[in-house]
Amino acid sequence: MKIVSGVYQIKLPFPLDMPGHVNVYVVEGSKGNILVDSGWGGSEGLWAFREGLRENRLKFQDINWIVITHIHPDHYSLASKLKEFCGAEVAMHRVEAELINSRYKDFSGLLKEIEEELSKNGVPQSELSELKEASLWMEQFVSPDLPDVMLDDGDRLSNGSFEFEVLRTPGHSPGHICLYEPRKRWLFCGDHVLFETIPHVGLHPQSGDNPLRDYINSLKIVEALKIVFIFPGHGPVFNSLKLRAAEILYHHEQRERAIIKAMSGGLKTAYQIATEIPWRAEAGGVAFKDLTPWDRRLAVLETIAHLKLLTFEGEIGKIDQDGVSLYLAKD
Ligand SMILES: [Zn+2]
Ligand SMILES: [Zn+2]
Repeated sequence: MKIVSGVYQIKLPFPLDMPGHVNVYVVEGSKGNILVDSGWGGSEGLWAFREGLRENRLKFQDINWIVITHIHPDHYSLASKLKEFCGAEVAMHRVEAELINSRYKDFSGLLKEIEEELSKNGVPQSELSELKEASLWMEQFVSPDLPDVMLDDGDRLSNGSFEFEVLRTPGHSPGHICLYEPRKRWLFCGDHVLFETIPHVGLHPQSGDNPLRDYINSLKIVEALKIVFIFPGHGPVFNSLKLRAAEILYHHEQRERAIIKAMSGGLKTAYQIATEIPWRAEAGGVAFKDLTPWDRRLAVLETIAHLKLLTFEGEIGKIDQDGVSLYLAKD
């Protein structure tokens, strides 16, 4: 689907009949085309991408560069295959590229670290394996090749018709980037700002030390820009960036309040707090116990990210007891 002159959106399905889709974009230029993100791997994703090209009268060979906003499987898995079909170069931020090997090639070490993180934050033994292994099925879709081009914050990418500035926006992922076209006032933003859902920000072995603080700072970077079209990785294209950023910040303030309220009963682990606060507000609110194992893991990691920021700001206290982190609200 052509969104504006020079920009085509292709919606690619999630695998295994999961609901939802990921948006990838082809930006046409006089000196070649840029593909922003690649979608899920597997034959279904490749087929949908080919159909998307055909509907827009584009060809694989028309794509010269594949820019990956971040290496989550829904944005990066198909990159190697598309590179092969298009003869294109793959580019991403160097911080993101550094995570590829530990996340997708030698992930036994990462799994162990995730288990330790969950255990330290109070996830009971009975739930530990389920939460630790909740993302393992995704590996089959990823061809974990390193990029051809390492990007840095402030780099410029031109295809002859449009020139993009690379903006590093850590938070959702530490090397996440947005592509900003200042003359057109476009922002291709991956999972940094979404219109219908709140981007996940959790603390885990690959998240950076204080991801929620990073995320809020990154939100301020893009919020200050004058943008006409925001092209996100999921959901509709939109134009009200300041309003959406304010809604996302409000969501985090509400969650912070819920977390502090849950802490009124004394010392608690992140897991205990996560079980006591509401989740998936956009779906009318879902209790922790009714979430899927994957969503329960995300919920615990998001709670830890909030607790980390609150501790950093001196709003709450933290003690480590017998290898378990316990948090306490201040009076
Ligand atoms: Zn993501
Ligand atoms: Zn995504």
